[in-house]
Amino acid sequence: MQYAESIVDLIGGTPLVKLNRVTEGIAATVLAKVEYLNPGGSVKDRIAERMIEEAERSGALQPGGTIVEPTSGNTGVGLALVAQRKGYRCIFVCPDKVGVEKRDVLRAYGAEVVVTPTAVAPDSPESYYSVSDRIAAETPGGWKPDQYSNPAGPASHYASTGPEIWKDTDGRLTHFVAGVGTGGTITGTGRFLKDASRDRLGDDGTARPVRVVGVDPEGSVYSGGTGRPYLVEGVGEDIWPPAYDPSVPDEVVAVSDAEAFAMTRRLAREEGLLVGGSCGMAVVGALRIAKDLPADAVVVVLLPDSGRGYLGKIYNDAWMRSYGFDVDAPGTAAVGGAT
Ligand code: PMP
Repeated sequence: MQYAESIVDLIGGTPLVKLNRVTEGIAATVLAKVEYLNPGGSVKDRIAERMIEEAERSGALQPGGTIVEPTSGNTGVGLALVAQRKGYRCIFVCPDKVGVEKRDVLRAYGAEVVVTPTAVAPDSPESYYSVSDRIAAETPGGWKPDQYSNPAGPASHYASTGPEIWKDTDGRLTHFVAGVGTGGTITGTGRFLKDASRDRLGDDGTARPVRVVGVDPEGSVYSGGTGRPYLVEGVGEDIWPPAYDPSVPDEVVAVSDAEAFAMTRRLAREEGLLVGGSCGMAVVGALRIAKDLPADAVVVVLLPDSGRGYLGKIYNDAWMRSYGFDVDAPGTAAVGGAT
């Protein structure tokens, strides 16, 4: 018989899928790492498992303890999955810009959810950082994984995401592209891929390490913004978190909400990939890089989550129009219109 001991044992090992239509006119191969195929539906299952295991090892998380985390949903699902298996309670704090569907998913997994206002400074007592600190301190056995500073986040990507990409591309990828939120994905995966390719030589005998490209929303600090608001979820910051090592990306490119959402809709309609807005954002960044590359270049772009949590937003024409986004541009219409 072939079966997994539990759903948690199926975290990681996600496939690479070639992008075929959105890459029209591009000579390089662009491969998407499809992280929604993780059991909790996102890349965050990886860090959740590792953060909990490390906390058990260090004693920070004791039997019967409570996990308290500020999360936009995906980290919460991963933590809830692993916590369920191990018998921990979960309390998650989400800013109110996070879709209702995403919060309902957390509750469905048995977690408690506290909602805080988005439009407050990080040091305000009402911010999701502050509220989660307070709940963690007030709850007996409370432990806050803090994906923004926990080194187990980038470490999980160094141990799993990076090696998977290296192996599946036979060490031939030339560029790795990922959105930056906590920075854990780009830091851990990018660092592994650079380490693995450090001694790789091109035809001319010069070193050809993997080039690592971060992508963030226009306005976010990683690409030099001032922290001005944007709608894409899960990526961008107004502060530089410790999980992010700015020496890993060779460059960080900024993408507008409009471009990110249009590409997100194209990925569903043209590539059969129903993904979240940060995926569209990352692909816009990847294509910007890929368009100037030769045919032997291999660009891997990581797609963090599924589109299921955004059906009422990015995939909803009325919501898109209410923010002034064009739903009738070629390839972006949800129903009818463009082909
Ligand atoms: N996309 C989504 C939807 C996310 O939830 C996250 C995590 N915040 C990211 C991208 C960015 O990943 P990281 O935190 O590892 O930078």
